[in-house]
Parts: sequence; structure tokens; C-alpha cells
Amino acid sequence: MTIYTGPVFDMARDQFQVIADYLEIPHDERPRLLFPKRAIVVSCPIHLDDGRVAVYQGYRVQHHLTLGPTKGGTRFALSVDIGEVAALAVWMSWKCALAGLPYGGAKGGVTVDPRALSPHELENLSRRYMQEMIPFVGPHTDVMAPDMGTNEQIMAWFMDTYSMYQGRTVTEIVTGKPVASGGTLGRREATGRGVAYLVARALERIGRQTAGATAIIQGFGNVGSYAAETLAERGTKLIGVSDHTACYYDPRGLDVAALVTHAREHGSLAGYSNQLSFDPHDLLTQQCDVLVPAAMERVIDASVAAKLQCRVLAEAANGPTTPDADEVLNQRRGEIFVIPDVLCNAGGVVVSYFEWVQDLQQFFWDEDEVMTKLYHVLDRAFAQVMNRADRDKVPHRTAAMAIGVEKVRSAKNTRGLFP
Ligand code: NAD
Repeated sequence: MTIYTGPVFDMARDQFQVIADYLEIPHDERPRLLFPKRAIVVSCPIHLDDGRVAVYQGYRVQHHLTLGPTKGGTRFALSVDIGEVAALAVWMSWKCALAGLPYGGAKGGVTVDPRALSPHELENLSRRYMQEMIPFVGPHTDVMAPDMGTNEQIMAWFMDTYSMYQGRTVTEIVTGKPVASGGTLGRREATGRGVAYLVARALERIGRQTAGATAIIQGFGNVGSYAAETLAERGTKLIGVSDHTACYYDPRGLDVAALVTHAREHGSLAGYSNQLSFDPHDLLTQQCDVLVPAAMERVIDASVAAKLQCRVLAEAANGPTTPDADEVLNQRRGEIFVIPDVLCNAGGVVVSYFEWVQDLQQFFWDEDEVMTKLYHVLDRAFAQVMNRADRDKVPHRTAAMAIGVEKVRSAKNTRGLFP
């Protein structure tokens, strides 16, 4: 029996079994690698603007502490439950290890629709969530970051709340903060830019150019919008885009700058255009060179996978592809080049790591230095995944996750089992 239930955790567990079989990890060693070290569940009561008190469930899962502190985002969404948070923490572990970062994975979240709260209520909830987590987190224990439904402002409230309790400013407790509050240049854009960088690498591998390629992006928040901007800078034509409010498609190409301006001004894509509206259910399966799911988990199941018409699937979201869909994609390996999530969206945590290092040292880098170091880490991880996949004739996801799992396993085995 486990408390980690639900389709997202099942997916993380199934993926792990595939890797464990491939690496021939003995069965009695597997639970120690898969199951989280700690899970914290809190109730967060806050005052609403109308005087009532509301209580929200909050979670934080720390997957393993073997390589250093844990690291991971905080999600504010109605889907958040312990299984989803645990799965995201497990994925973070493989991702950090693949990128060579001295972290275990973590994830946190609150079951709430942040759009339904006023700014004041959102601040109350953010501060109370961090206050509840203080006994369990710290710059050398567990470092938070943004994820779906949270942003730089919320990270600033987290950092301020933690600092107030410590009696001094502790910028290194969270990453993804505003630059004015100890954040790093380049963090806001890092995940989306990293996605676009790896898309260019993937297109190169299949003998295509970024300039003139077509792209479809699902999700137009932090990751999707910066991926769109960076792809457009590199000459790629965005032909389809969606968020939770709207979906647009135009084979002649959409105006990325206008979409970004609209989304930043209005908070979503709704109202951008009436003529270009499209059925969101059909968006992912339209013909394009590059498909970027950048919203949520499990949007590509086996039936969608069979209908995909892209050359590169760049998994900017965490867990967008189900294990059933993987089986289909494995058979279509020559047709569709998958950049698996643990590689594709690693730019975010890599620059979060840079932010943490800068905060600890109180020594800040310019943006060029951040981006050069980011691309170096992504190149190294991409090369490792390609080499492993070619050597063992395994899918890119298997190669990427196996490199992460191996590093965690090796650290656990060399440290030994206490007591
Ligand atoms: P965000 O909250 O900034 O944006 C999420 C976007 O997804 C919004 O545009 C929202 O409208 C859209 N969306 C939600 N439901 C949708 C639906 N049903 N159909 C289409 N679009 C929908 O979140 P984000 O930070 O951009 O994160 C997006 C994904 O990337 C998540 O899976 C997250 O875990 C992953 N990720 C984020 C980071 C980061 O640095 N922010 C890093 C790594 C991975």
C-alpha cells in the first residue's frame, strides 16, 4: 500500500519500471529509488476579502536527499494532489541528475485555482503555505521555485515570509525570484529558451533547419510564451497555439509578438482573434515540424500519439506523454524525434541552480554568462542522451531517464545504507 496514488504517479512509477528493467536493477533495490523520502501535507487557512476563512490543502514532496538539497517548483492548480506532486518530484530527481546538478527532486503545490483569488488572497495563501513549510525547507534542505500557477511575485512572497521568520534576508531559499529581490538574469526565460535551443539541436540531427520550420505550442504561460518567442527569433513559424481559454491556428503563421503582448496584458489568449479560432482537441495532431506541449501532463495518449504529424516532439511540460503513447512513439521512432521532458525543460532548473549558487555567494553574473553556461549544460545532457540512445538502441526517454536513475543509484550505493 502507498499513499502515492492517481494516474500521474502511476505514470512516473511505470516509467521507472521500464528504466529499472533496462538497467537490470534488482527488485529489492527499486522501492528505495522510487518512493519519496518525505511528504508533507498542510492545511493553509487564510482570510478571504469578504471576511470568511477558507482552508486550502498544501503539499511538498522531497524525493531523495542523497546528492544534496532537494529542488523543485510549487504548483497552484486544482489538479494538485499528493500523487501528482510526488510524480513531479520523482521526475525532478532524474532531471537534476541528468543535468549534473547536486540536487534531489522535490515538488510542492496547493489545490487551488489561483485565478479565483484576489491579489490579496493570493498573497495570504502564498505566505501561509511557506510559513507551514518552514520546518521542512531551507537553503541546504529544500529549495522551492515556480511552476504552473505560480510566478516571480509568489516566489518573492515565499522568500520574504521565510526571511521574516529567520530575522535576516535569505534569498537562497527560493529561485525564480524577481531580479530585484535576488533573482538571476535569465531565469524567467530559461525554460522556454532551453526548449527552443534543444529543438534546434533536434532539427539539426534530422537534417532540418530551425529557420522556416513550423511549430505548434500548447500552453502559453511562462514556458510556452518564451519558447514561442525564441523559436520565432530563430525563424520558426508558429502556426498553432492554445491556452486554457483559447486556441488559434493559421498555416500562414501567427504573429508571436502580438500574441505575447495580448497574453501578458490580459492574462490569457482569450479575445485575441475570432477568425483564427480552432478546436483545441485537434491542435496537437495538426501537421507541423515541431510540436511543443507546454501546459500539463498526459495530453498525449496512445490515440493522440498515433495521429501526431510532427517531426520533433519537444516535451516542454512535465509528463505530457503517457506510457501507452510511448509505446506508439517507440514504433514511430524514425518518424518522430522525441525530446523527453527531463531533458527538454531542464533549462528552468539549471538556471535555478545558477540563481541558488549566486545567492549563496552573493556574487551575480551577467545574462550572457548565465545563458552560455545554460547552453553548455544542455549540450552536454543532449549529447549524453543521444550517445546512450544510439549505443543501446533505446528510445530517448529511456536513455535520458536511465542516465538520471543511474547517477542517483550510484550515489546511494557508494554512500551505503544507514545505519
Ligand atoms: P504557467 O502557469 O505559466 O502556464 C501554463 C499554461 O498552460 C497557461 O497558458 C495555461 O493557460 C495553459 N493551460 C492550462 N490548461 C490548459 C489546457 N487544458 N489546454 C491548453 N493550455 C492549458 O506554467 P508554466 O510554468 O509555463 O508551466 C507549464 C509546464 O511546464 C508545466 O508542466 C510545468 O511543470 C512545466 N515546467 C515549467 C518550468 C518553469 O520554469 N516554469 C520548468 C520546467 C517545467
